[in-house]
Amino acid sequence: MAYFKIIDKGNGVNRLFIGGVHGKEGLSTIKALQEIRDDDVTRGKLVIHNCDESPYLSTLDPLYYQSDVGKEVLYLIDYYKPTFYVEAHCYKEKNFSNLTSPHRMNKAGVPPLIELDKGVLIGSASPSIRTNVFRKEDVCITLEMPCNPNSDSLNVYLELLRVFAASTSRDELENKIKEIYPRQLETAIKYAKEFFGNYPPF
Ligand SMILES: [Zn+2]
Repeated sequence: MAYFKIIDKGNGVNRLFIGGVHGKEGLSTIKALQEIRDDDVTRGKLVIHNCDESPYLSTLDPLYYQSDVGKEVLYLIDYYKPTFYVEAHCYKEKNFSNLTSPHRMNKAGVPPLIELDKGVLIGSASPSIRTNVFRKEDVCITLEMPCNPNSDSLNVYLELLRVFAASTSRDELENKIKEIYPRQLETAIKYAKEFFGNYPPF
């Protein structure tokens, strides 16, 4: 379900939220993305893009970024050069244990996602774009909620999107996340060190 919105509050960080990057996820992510209001952005710019339905290919699959929608994602990142990048996904409930499994590193080659609350999960975006497309100091996350979310999950997801929309620097963002989810931030820092070496947590 295509949706596009730019909120421009002058100088400051560029933010890009992209939802529905594969399969039918856009039908769920639009429910959160369309709730972001102009008032949620304090300074800088926020670009919100929700993609149309596309064939499902994992963003961890090297072929993903050669697909039409993968190229669209790369184009948007290249064009808007976000300092804060949020890839908004949803998952089927049966995949929860795979996504959060401590063995995900062995099975999928990436660290497990971390549950914030109410089934909402956070992790780094696909390593291929994290390290090749973004600068180290950029913030670059994958955010997941159950598909067709209940209002509790949707609210947790939306609250985090609003933290990204309102924050104007990495420090401010990290401090806000630390206030709400201290334990999860600690885990994210640990995974980032294990996986990326001296990379920041997101
Ligand atoms: Zn997804």
